Amino acid sequence: MTSTENVCARDGCSFLPEIVMIGETPLPAVYCGDACADFEWLRRALNESTPSLGVAAALQDLNALERILNARSEPFSVGPLISESLYAG
Ligand SMILES: [Zn+2]
Repeated sequence: MTSTENVCARDGCSFLPEIVMIGETPLPAVYCGDACADFEWLRRALNESTPSLGVAAALQDLNALERILNARSEPFSVGPLISESLYAG
C-alpha cells in the first residue's frame, strides 16, 4: 500500500485517487471511479425522494447496478492526474 492509495467509500476497494476540486480546495476523490460516485449520488437522491412507484422502480435498478459494481474483479484504475508531489502531507 503506497501513500497515494485510498479506499473507496462505497465498495472498500483500494485505488489511486484523482484530485477533485471541492470549491477552491483540491481533495482526493473518495470513490474509485465515476461509477461508484454516481451510484452514491443516485442512492442519496432516491433516499431523499418522496416514495412512489417510480422511486421504487429506480431503487430496483440501483440494486441491480450495485450487483454489477460488486461483481467487478478489478476497480477502475484511476491514475493520478497531477504530480504526486501534491499528495505530500
Ligand atoms: Zn468503488
